[in-house]
Amino acid sequence: MIALEKLKFDVNGLIPAIVQDAETRVVLMQGYMNAESVAKTLDSGKVCFFSRSRQRLWTKGEESGNFLHVKEILADCDNDSLLVKAIPAGPTCHTGSDTCWGEVNRESDFLHYLQQYLRKRKNDSPEVSYTARLIGKGINKVAQKVGEEAVELVIEAKDDNEELFLNEAADLMYHYIVLLIAKGYGLEDVERVLRGRHTGV
Ligand code: AMP
Ligand code: ZN
Ligand code: ZN
Ligand code: ZN
Repeated sequence: MIALEKLKFDVNGLIPAIVQDAETRVVLMQGYMNAESVAKTLDSGKVCFFSRSRQRLWTKGEESGNFLHVKEILADCDNDSLLVKAIPAGPTCHTGSDTCWGEVNRESDFLHYLQQYLRKRKNDSPEVSYTARLIGKGINKVAQKVGEEAVELVIEAKDDNEELFLNEAADLMYHYIVLLIAKGYGLEDVERVLRGRHTGV
């Protein structure tokens, strides 16, 4: 990840840390870390800052539960700034916004937004969430639904009804994402495999 001894902290012993959503690449927040909070972040896997106002270590989410689960940490070209790629457990800003610069534009990269939303639904009560109910029935049931929706899409592909075709395509996409989630994966994992195969321009 990063070499702690190479980092250049400022006169107050701090280094700015920009937190980016590891999946959607949206910039979530910015804070400061000292050497201790960098070490704690690496150790715990949760983003820990040094709060300048409170003058103490601050694990983001310690009160709200909205932790930032670290995927990767990069130092910039001259080692005086950090980029933390993380998966947010909830809204990152204390105002309740997705990011400290406001809400995420849900139009851009909607599939990754939907995936994040469905990951949270997974832990909801089965009474309110179809997704939670489906995942609760087990991998085989989810996989079976993917098969059914694929067959429905094949059937609609033979017709000229655009609406039915697109609706079945959406059903398949939804269940496909749910299957990935149920197996502990995500679209980014499939993307990685596809990228590895891609030899074209
Ligand atoms: P949390 O770390 O989410 O449990 O929040 C604890 C406290 O930290 C909140 O009451 C806020 O004062 C502050 N806080 C939380 N998130 C942010 C943020 N993104 N930017 C600045 N301050 C925050
Ligand atoms: Zn720099
Ligand atoms: Zn904020
Ligand atoms: Zn269907």
